[in-house]
Amino acid sequence: MIKENEQGILIVVSGPSGCGKSTLDQKLVERRNDTVISISDTTRSPRGDEVDGVDYNFISTEEFEQKIKDNKYLEYAIVHSNKYYGTPNEHIDEMLSKGKNIILEIDIEGARKINEKRPDAVFIFIMPPSMEILKKRLIGRKTETKEQIVERFKTAYKEINEVSKYNYVIVNDDIEESVLKMNSIIECEKCRVDRIEEVYLGNQEEMIHELLVDFDKENYKEKKES
Ligand code: ADP
Ligand code: 5GP
Repeated sequence: MIKENEQGILIVVSGPSGCGKSTLDQKLVERRNDTVISISDTTRSPRGDEVDGVDYNFISTEEFEQKIKDNKYLEYAIVHSNKYYGTPNEHIDEMLSKGKNIILEIDIEGARKINEKRPDAVFIFIMPPSMEILKKRLIGRKTETKEQIVERFKTAYKEINEVSKYNYVIVNDDIEESVLKMNSIIECEKCRVDRIEEVYLGNQEEMIHELLVDFDKENYKEKKES
């Protein structure tokens, strides 16, 4: 009856550092083999057990700036401590046209740029249940220095003020529930009427003719039974 647009969905996920974006995105892609997380370039150093080419592509400032000149980024921003972070545009359209949903885990500035370039994207904001809990998660992750944690915590206030610019907000209290909500958002977005390319019903006259024939057969049976 319906031919749908088979394009994947571009999903932007933002929220303050430590709110749980990576945790939720990771769990979501484990569940959905039609969804992938875009790997960003960054000029910051790897932390904890982060792996180059998996968590980020860790590159030099010179290389990043050359890629900006060469127009290799869908968006980029200077986030914490004057470090560059950017979404390589390579593969994005190819993956979307193959029906893969792509998650961009990016800051509010990057999200604003995507909104201008790709109004078809879906914007999800992950909110911590409270600032107290955010603080605990940032400290508990044990991947940043005290200064880095303070910087991220300060930035969180500015970021949370941008929530109304997003389409959806998820308060990440329980991980399982939050992943279910992300999954539901994707399912809802796939049901949007603007994804319909064609509605085909068959020939009306023929269908009505068939209906009358079917009806007569049913009627005949009823008479026979009574
Ligand atoms: P982000 O990617 O937003 O910076 P992370 O995914 O790294 O955040 O999560 C920060 C910390 O909080 C991690 O230690 C993670 O295990 C933990 N965490 C994430 N979501 C929850 C949750 N719903 N409940 C408790 N701890 C969580
Ligand atoms: P972290 O250093 O904690 O990994 O990330 C810091 C911030 O940079 C987070 O808000 C994260 O979402 C954001 N970020 C990561 N990759 C990108 C990117 O490609 N573009 C933009 N604009 N922000 C990014």
